[in-house]
Amino acid sequence: MRAEGFRSLLGQAGALTRQQRSQLIEALRPAVGHDQVCEAIDDARPAPLCCAGCGSSRHYRHGIVRGLQRYRCRDCGRTFSALSGTPLARLRHRARWLDYLKEMLDSRSVRAAAKLVGVHRNTSFRWRHRFLDGLRHDQPERLAGIAEADEMFVLESQKGSRRLERPPRKRGGVAHHRGISHQHDCILVARDRSGLTCSFVTGRAAVTVKQLHRHLLPVLDPDILLVTDGHRAYRIFARETRIAHAFVNLRAGERVRGAVHVQNVNAHHQRLRSWLSRFHGVASRYLPNYLGWRWALDGERIAAPERLLHAALKRFHMQR
Ligand SMILES: [Zn+2]
Repeated sequence: MRAEGFRSLLGQAGALTRQQRSQLIEALRPAVGHDQVCEAIDDARPAPLCCAGCGSSRHYRHGIVRGLQRYRCRDCGRTFSALSGTPLARLRHRARWLDYLKEMLDSRSVRAAAKLVGVHRNTSFRWRHRFLDGLRHDQPERLAGIAEADEMFVLESQKGSRRLERPPRKRGGVAHHRGISHQHDCILVARDRSGLTCSFVTGRAAVTVKQLHRHLLPVLDPDILLVTDGHRAYRIFARETRIAHAFVNLRAGERVRGAVHVQNVNAHHQRLRSWLSRFHGVASRYLPNYLGWRWALDGERIAAPERLLHAALKRFHMQR
């Protein structure tokens, strides 16, 4: 719109009735949502932003496409934006992303979020997992000081699968065997006393020494004190890696010995379990996504939709 026309439009704004004002706000809402998300995407871009094609950081601004700054690579000539090469690149209805992310901060189910944001539930499902694709990698790089580690188990679920690897369970809920078996997914959680938390889905049944090497070792500061229960795998792991280790003998009724306890990680398990229960069973293959989501919400670590978008894009930007 020309400046003159816009000035006269603004001049008339004062004469609107209350109803007209709210109609006008409604009419502007999608565009404003779109502007906000584009701003958030551009804010999330890394410095320097690298070409999605060749990785070069030599580029110049090359117009704006659907509200998003476009760049052209000086080396390979390709054009790209801060979204190129990310799982969000081809998602539609961008104007509603921040609204959708807000519903994720409120831990809404796929259906509830779909309804509130006004998208189809298949779209809602797709969006959820595209955003979580990045979030599940947004974990602390290092735990330090004293870190508690413990496993929790959830019944494996093939929810949504077309082909079951086993006979279906009646009414979903109970394992066929008592205790921990191959019907359970193991979630290993390590949390240091500053609250930094790493969670891993290690596989079915009890955690093994090999899995501790794979998942736990990379995130433990060499000077850390690892605190666990008496599970043998931790003792062997600590011996092999020469990581300082203390354990509480829960079987003998010992819960706390000075700073040696696993109460923080167990409280975390409880919160995680009750949070997961609102989704009425999470398919095993999506568990890592949900752990990433949970970590975003942990202690309201991320409270704004823009920040959640930022976290979802971070990993893909780091790979470029
Ligand atoms: Zn390039």
